[in-house]
Amino acid sequence: MPSVTQEQIASLVKLQKIEIEISRLKAELSTVDHRIETLDNNLLEAKQSIENQKSSIDELNQKYRAYESDVQMHLDRIKKSEAKLSASKTNKEYQSSLKEIDDLKDMNSKKEDDMIEFLDRIEEAENVLKAKTAEFSELESKMKTEKDIIQGEAEENRQRLDNLGVEWETVSGSINAEMLAAFNRIKANQTDKIGIVAVKDAVCQGCHLNIPPQMYNELQRGDSLKRCPICERIIYWKDQNKRSE
Ligand SMILES: [Zn+2]
Repeated sequence: MPSVTQEQIASLVKLQKIEIEISRLKAELSTVDHRIETLDNNLLEAKQSIENQKSSIDELNQKYRAYESDVQMHLDRIKKSEAKLSASKTNKEYQSSLKEIDDLKDMNSKKEDDMIEFLDRIEEAENVLKAKTAEFSELESKMKTEKDIIQGEAEENRQRLDNLGVEWETVSGSINAEMLAAFNRIKANQTDKIGIVAVKDAVCQGCHLNIPPQMYNELQRGDSLKRCPICERIIYWKDQNKRSE
């Protein structure tokens, strides 16, 4: 391991922090599309529910009108049967016309009952539609607010990401090439892509295991690059009394 200065280690720590923040921001930004899509889908669902409600009202109205024309048709037939009744020459004809009229009147009476029920159902369905429409506009403004928040945050995060990219360039440019290469190699082998970690009270903050006392002593001098013997990350001594880091 090459010998290093405190500043170089500090720069590496800084670089690692920038990279962690970049990953975090990228992960957060990657959820934006899905979050917006979910909001849009909520709205679409509510809209669909309104459309469905309108269709069922249309259906009820159609049924109502069909019954209405049935009733009208029956009334016409009743008139004809009444004409037949008064023109009937035999008792059989008379009885048959009378029965026709009774049957038609019965049918109409049932149809009219159904029509009253349809009117009730239409009124009920229209009330539901009204409620759904009100809910929709409430949802719409809520979704818009949420969308604005998400997009505003995303814009801020993109801005921060841009700034961090610039900062990353500066910091990585200030690090010794050999050390940077070692850092990148070590990082590549870690699942969390973290290549440098602090050691607090002789405990590696990467793997949470103790490092040997001799190494801990050397680490506190901070004049050479050390690696955790267990997780192999670059380690640095984190002074508990210092406020930084
Ligand atoms: Zn470790």
